[in-house]
Amino acid sequence: MATTVLVVEDEAAIRDMIAMALERAGYRARHADSAEDARAAMRLAHPDLLLLDWMLPGESGLDMARSIKDDAQMSQIPIIMLTARGEEDDRVRGLDAGADDYITKPFSPREMMARVKAVLRRTAPTLTEAPVEVEGLRVDPISHRVFANGDGVDLGPTEFRLLHFLMTHPERVFTRAQLLDNVWGANVYVEERTVDVHVRRLRRELTATGHDGLVQTVRGAGYRFSARD
Ligand code: CA
Repeated sequence: MATTVLVVEDEAAIRDMIAMALERAGYRARHADSAEDARAAMRLAHPDLLLLDWMLPGESGLDMARSIKDDAQMSQIPIIMLTARGEEDDRVRGLDAGADDYITKPFSPREMMARVKAVLRRTAPTLTEAPVEVEGLRVDPISHRVFANGDGVDLGPTEFRLLHFLMTHPERVFTRAQLLDNVWGANVYVEERTVDVHVRRLRRELTATGHDGLVQTVRGAGYRFSARD
Protein backbone atom coordinates (compact mmCIF):
# COMPACT_ATOMS: atom_id res chain seq x y z
CA MET A 1 0.00 0.00 0.00
CA ALA A 2 1.54 3.20 -1.21
CA THR A 3 1.95 6.14 1.09
CA THR A 4 -0.43 8.92 0.03
CA VAL A 5 0.72 12.52 0.13
CA LEU A 6 -1.74 15.35 -0.39
CA VAL A 7 -0.17 18.42 -1.96
CA VAL A 8 -2.09 21.63 -1.25
CA GLU A 9 -0.63 24.33 -3.47
CA ASP A 10 -2.28 26.86 -5.79
CA GLU A 11 0.73 27.34 -8.06
CA ALA A 12 0.40 24.66 -10.71
CA ALA A 13 4.10 24.55 -11.61
CA ILE A 14 5.17 23.87 -8.03
CA ARG A 15 2.33 21.43 -7.46
CA ASP A 16 3.28 19.43 -10.55
CA MET A 17 6.95 19.42 -9.65
CA ILE A 18 6.14 18.07 -6.19
CA ALA A 19 3.67 15.47 -7.45
CA MET A 20 6.14 14.22 -10.02
CA ALA A 21 8.94 13.88 -7.48
CA LEU A 22 6.64 12.04 -5.08
CA GLU A 23 5.43 9.61 -7.71
CA ARG A 24 8.92 8.96 -8.93
CA ALA A 25 9.81 8.00 -5.37
CA GLY A 26 6.92 5.54 -5.22
CA TYR A 27 4.43 7.63 -3.29
CA ARG A 28 0.89 8.31 -4.33
CA ALA A 29 0.31 12.03 -4.85
CA ARG A 30 -3.07 13.73 -4.56
CA HIS A 31 -3.48 17.45 -5.05
CA ALA A 32 -5.68 20.35 -4.15
CA ASP A 33 -5.36 24.06 -4.90
CA SER A 34 -7.20 25.47 -1.88
CA ALA A 35 -7.98 24.55 1.70
CA GLU A 36 -11.56 23.81 0.72
CA ASP A 37 -10.43 21.51 -2.06
CA ALA A 38 -8.02 19.83 0.33
CA ARG A 39 -10.77 19.02 2.83
CA ALA A 40 -12.81 17.36 0.11
CA ALA A 41 -9.75 15.36 -1.00
CA MET A 42 -9.04 14.30 2.57
CA ARG A 43 -12.51 12.85 2.91
CA LEU A 44 -11.91 10.66 -0.14
CA ALA A 45 -8.34 9.49 0.31
CA HIS A 46 -6.92 9.46 3.76
CA PRO A 47 -3.48 11.02 3.28
CA ASP A 48 -0.43 9.91 5.28
CA LEU A 49 1.11 13.35 4.96
CA LEU A 50 0.13 16.86 3.93
CA LEU A 51 2.39 19.25 2.03
CA LEU A 52 0.61 22.50 2.72
CA ASP A 53 1.37 25.84 1.13
CA TRP A 54 1.15 28.79 3.50
CA MET A 55 -0.20 31.27 0.94
CA LEU A 56 -3.42 29.91 -0.53
CA PRO A 57 -6.40 31.76 -1.96
CA GLY A 58 -9.11 31.92 0.71
CA GLU A 59 -8.25 30.13 3.93
CA SER A 60 -4.49 30.24 4.52
CA GLY A 61 -2.38 27.12 4.91
CA LEU A 62 -1.54 28.24 8.41
CA ASP A 63 -5.21 28.37 9.42
CA MET A 64 -5.82 25.04 7.77
CA ALA A 65 -2.93 23.45 9.68
CA ARG A 66 -4.43 24.75 12.92
CA SER A 67 -7.87 23.38 12.17
CA ILE A 68 -6.48 19.97 11.19
CA LYS A 69 -4.56 19.71 14.44
CA ASP A 70 -7.76 20.54 16.34
CA ASP A 71 -9.70 17.82 14.55
CA ALA A 72 -9.55 14.51 16.45
CA GLN A 73 -9.91 12.51 13.24
CA MET A 74 -7.16 14.27 11.35
CA SER A 75 -4.77 15.55 13.98
CA GLN A 76 -2.35 12.64 13.56
CA ILE A 77 -1.70 13.48 9.90
CA PRO A 78 1.75 15.05 9.71
CA ILE A 79 2.02 18.41 7.95
CA ILE A 80 4.94 20.01 6.17
CA MET A 81 4.38 23.70 5.47
CA LEU A 82 5.63 25.17 2.19
CA THR A 83 6.38 28.83 2.16
CA ALA A 84 8.30 31.65 0.61
CA ARG A 85 8.65 33.14 4.05
CA GLY A 86 11.88 32.04 5.60
CA GLU A 87 11.84 34.27 8.63
CA GLU A 88 12.47 32.69 11.99
CA ASP A 89 9.24 34.18 13.26
CA ASP A 90 7.19 32.56 10.48
CA ARG A 91 8.83 29.24 11.08
CA VAL A 92 7.82 29.41 14.72
CA ARG A 93 4.24 30.34 13.78
CA GLY A 94 4.08 27.40 11.39
CA LEU A 95 5.36 24.96 13.98
CA ASP A 96 3.08 26.46 16.62
CA ALA A 97 0.12 25.85 14.33
CA GLY A 98 0.99 22.16 14.45
CA ALA A 99 3.21 21.73 11.37
CA ASP A 100 5.81 18.98 11.71
CA ASP A 101 8.32 20.62 9.42
CA TYR A 102 8.78 23.58 7.15
CA ILE A 103 10.23 23.95 3.65
CA THR A 104 11.20 27.35 2.31
CA LYS A 105 10.69 28.11 -1.38
CA PRO A 106 12.46 27.75 -3.66
CA PHE A 107 13.42 24.18 -2.89
CA SER A 108 14.67 21.25 -4.94
CA PRO A 109 12.67 18.03 -5.37
CA ARG A 110 15.53 16.28 -3.65
CA GLU A 111 15.41 18.46 -0.57
CA MET A 112 11.65 18.08 -0.43
CA MET A 113 11.83 14.28 -0.64
CA ALA A 114 14.40 14.18 2.15
CA ARG A 115 12.05 16.19 4.38
CA VAL A 116 9.05 14.03 3.43
CA LYS A 117 10.90 10.84 4.31
CA ALA A 118 12.22 12.26 7.56
CA VAL A 119 8.77 13.38 8.70
CA LEU A 120 7.15 10.07 7.75
CA ARG A 121 9.86 8.16 9.60
CA ARG A 122 9.34 10.30 12.64
CA THR A 123 5.56 10.26 12.70
CA ALA A 124 4.18 7.11 11.09
CA PRO A 125 3.87 4.14 13.43
CA THR A 126 2.50 2.04 10.56
CA LEU A 127 5.79 2.19 8.77
CA THR A 128 7.63 0.67 11.70
CA GLU A 129 7.61 -2.91 12.81
CA ALA A 130 7.11 -2.02 16.43
CA PRO A 131 4.44 -3.95 18.33
CA VAL A 132 1.31 -1.98 19.19
CA GLU A 133 -0.56 -2.44 22.44
CA VAL A 134 -3.84 -0.95 23.63
CA GLU A 135 -5.59 -2.02 26.82
CA GLY A 136 -3.97 -5.43 26.92
CA LEU A 137 -4.45 -6.11 23.22
CA ARG A 138 -1.05 -6.52 21.61
CA VAL A 139 -0.21 -6.89 17.92
CA ASP A 140 3.30 -7.84 16.89
CA PRO A 141 3.79 -7.27 13.14
CA ILE A 142 7.09 -9.15 13.03
CA SER A 143 5.90 -12.46 14.45
CA HIS A 144 2.36 -11.82 13.11
CA ARG A 145 0.96 -12.68 16.51
CA VAL A 146 -1.83 -11.15 18.54
CA PHE A 147 -2.22 -11.40 22.29
CA ALA A 148 -5.17 -10.42 24.43
CA ASN A 149 -4.26 -10.11 28.10
CA GLY A 150 -1.26 -12.33 27.38
CA ASP A 151 -3.13 -15.14 25.63
CA GLY A 152 -2.62 -15.80 21.93
CA VAL A 153 -5.50 -14.87 19.60
CA ASP A 154 -5.78 -16.75 16.34
CA LEU A 155 -6.57 -14.35 13.50
CA GLY A 156 -6.73 -14.89 9.77
CA PRO A 157 -4.29 -12.82 7.67
CA THR A 158 -6.91 -10.26 6.63
CA GLU A 159 -8.22 -9.81 10.16
CA PHE A 160 -4.63 -9.42 11.28
CA ARG A 161 -3.91 -6.67 8.74
CA LEU A 162 -7.21 -4.99 9.49
CA LEU A 163 -6.55 -4.95 13.23
CA HIS A 164 -2.98 -3.74 12.76
CA PHE A 165 -4.09 -0.96 10.44
CA LEU A 166 -6.85 0.21 12.78
CA MET A 167 -4.63 0.03 15.86
CA THR A 168 -1.91 2.09 14.23
CA HIS A 169 -4.49 4.73 13.23
CA PRO A 170 -6.53 5.04 16.43
CA GLU A 171 -9.46 7.41 16.85
CA ARG A 172 -9.91 7.92 13.13
CA VAL A 173 -13.00 6.85 11.27
CA PHE A 174 -12.36 4.95 8.06
CA THR A 175 -14.97 4.29 5.42
CA ARG A 176 -15.23 0.81 3.98
CA ALA A 177 -13.64 2.08 0.77
CA GLN A 178 -10.69 3.52 2.70
CA LEU A 179 -10.23 0.25 4.56
CA LEU A 180 -10.30 -1.70 1.31
CA ASP A 181 -7.73 0.64 -0.11
CA ASN A 182 -5.42 0.46 2.90
CA VAL A 183 -5.83 -3.12 4.06
CA TRP A 184 -6.65 -5.03 0.89
CA GLY A 185 -4.76 -2.76 -1.52
CA ALA A 186 -5.97 -0.28 -4.09
CA ASN A 187 -6.11 -2.59 -7.08
CA VAL A 188 -8.05 -5.43 -5.58
CA TYR A 189 -11.66 -5.78 -6.61
CA VAL A 190 -13.63 -6.56 -3.48
CA GLU A 191 -17.12 -5.46 -2.52
CA GLU A 192 -17.40 -3.06 0.38
CA ARG A 193 -19.56 -5.58 2.22
CA THR A 194 -16.48 -7.76 2.53
CA VAL A 195 -15.13 -5.30 5.08
CA ASP A 196 -18.13 -5.93 7.33
CA VAL A 197 -17.56 -9.68 7.14
CA HIS A 198 -13.94 -9.35 8.26
CA VAL A 199 -14.78 -6.86 10.99
CA ARG A 200 -17.36 -9.32 12.29
CA ARG A 201 -14.81 -12.15 12.31
CA LEU A 202 -12.24 -9.95 13.99
CA ARG A 203 -14.68 -8.96 16.73
CA ARG A 204 -15.69 -12.56 17.29
CA GLU A 205 -12.07 -13.48 18.05
CA LEU A 206 -11.77 -10.57 20.45
CA THR A 207 -15.01 -11.17 22.33
CA ALA A 208 -13.67 -13.62 24.91
CA THR A 209 -11.42 -10.98 26.45
CA GLY A 210 -13.82 -8.07 25.89
CA HIS A 211 -11.55 -6.40 23.32
CA ASP A 212 -14.22 -6.51 20.61
CA GLY A 213 -15.51 -3.12 21.81
CA LEU A 214 -12.29 -1.49 20.62
CA VAL A 215 -13.36 -2.00 17.01
CA GLN A 216 -16.28 0.37 16.77
CA THR A 217 -18.92 0.91 14.13
CA VAL A 218 -19.57 4.54 13.33
CA ARG A 219 -23.06 4.73 11.92
CA GLY A 220 -23.22 5.99 8.37
CA ALA A 221 -19.44 6.41 8.24
CA GLY A 222 -17.43 3.26 8.81
CA TYR A 223 -15.16 1.87 11.50
CA ARG A 224 -12.85 3.21 14.13
CA PHE A 225 -10.43 1.76 16.66
CA SER A 226 -10.87 3.48 19.97
CA ALA A 227 -10.26 2.76 23.64
CA ARG A 228 -13.06 5.22 24.46
CA ASP A 229 -16.75 4.36 24.43
CA1 CA B 1 0.66 29.78 -2.94
